Amino acid sequence: MAKRDYYEILGVARNASDDDIKKAYRKLAMKYHPDRNQGDSAKAAEEKFKEVKEAYEMLSDPQKRAAYDQYGHAGVDPNMRAGGAGGDGFAGFSEAFGDIFGDIFGAPRGGRGRQMYRGSDLSYAMEITLEEAARGKDAQIRIPSWEDCDTCHGTGAKPGTSAKTCPTCHGNGVVQMRQGFFSVQQTCPHCHGSGKIIPEPCPTCRGEGKIKRHKTLEIKIPAGIDDGMRIRSSGNGEPGRNGGPPGDLYIEIRIRKHDLFERDGDDLHVQVPISITTAALGGEVDVPTLDGKATIDIPEGTQHGKTFRLRGRGIKGVRSSYPGDLYAHIAVETPVKLTEHQRRLLRELDESLKKNGNKHSPNEKGWFEKARDFFS
Ligand SMILES: [Zn+2]
Ligand SMILES: [Zn+2]
Repeated sequence: MAKRDYYEILGVARNASDDDIKKAYRKLAMKYHPDRNQGDSAKAAEEKFKEVKEAYEMLSDPQKRAAYDQYGHAGVDPNMRAGGAGGDGFAGFSEAFGDIFGDIFGAPRGGRGRQMYRGSDLSYAMEITLEEAARGKDAQIRIPSWEDCDTCHGTGAKPGTSAKTCPTCHGNGVVQMRQGFFSVQQTCPHCHGSGKIIPEPCPTCRGEGKIKRHKTLEIKIPAGIDDGMRIRSSGNGEPGRNGGPPGDLYIEIRIRKHDLFERDGDDLHVQVPISITTAALGGEVDVPTLDGKATIDIPEGTQHGKTFRLRGRGIKGVRSSYPGDLYAHIAVETPVKLTEHQRRLLRELDESLKKNGNKHSPNEKGWFEKARDFFS
């Protein structure tokens, strides 16, 4: 069944005042009230009563009335979706609706219709070392803070003068804008929602009531924090307007590049150069870790690029139960700046090795075969 027009239900004109709507509702509500309608007419009266009540609820609310004027029942009925009723007719309805009411519904509201605005969030970039990230750190940072102006004590008015009620919105902070049948509330363009105007602004704060200063903030950087993570310091952003809450401060962590270690999540990687002698004969090698030295046993015949894992010597991330691992990547170094004697020794060694074919070069044989297959 099609819904009846709300104005028709209440028997008022489309441009009826709020008062007219209220009067019409009272009259009809009395007429159809269940207490006054018993017997045969009870059921029909109950239906009428509900209809009248709904019409009044919609038309007595300025936002709902405006939406109804513009879009009909689709504008106020949550069950009717854009595009559902009239095909193309309602396409884009929700976007239009969002634009118009975004200002009002989006911002938190203050008492008496004043618009409150939450302050903006601030962000602070902080660079720390990898060691600091691993262990955590208590840091102090200087951040902007806003204090009540000493000259006007926060009122924004020049001493001896005072703020006045905004004549445009009469202190409500919002005004009704009417375009044809369409009427919406908007933030007052004169006082920007504060409901007050300051005829003579305080010269110190230029009417803001607040002065930007700086304060030192203690920040606890948790152990295991990683590059790009943010720490939120609640309420330390910019102050809100018209009594709105302040924004938050976000400390964004940047970890400086380390000379030795590369971090990958909770794991660390380190390059460990060893001589060809150690690689060939084996031996003990010291490996740096974030908490001192560790020793690894290089077995005889270790190849370049071999990786040793030191379990638990990585970083314990902020949300991890166990620390990560440290990977030691072996880099076999070719000796340089040889003396004539050393060259001779190497040539002798080479002769000796070649006598046994490629037995001493574990990768060479396989590599030659692959290369031959590739070229043929
Ligand atoms: Zn001031
Ligand atoms: Zn105003």
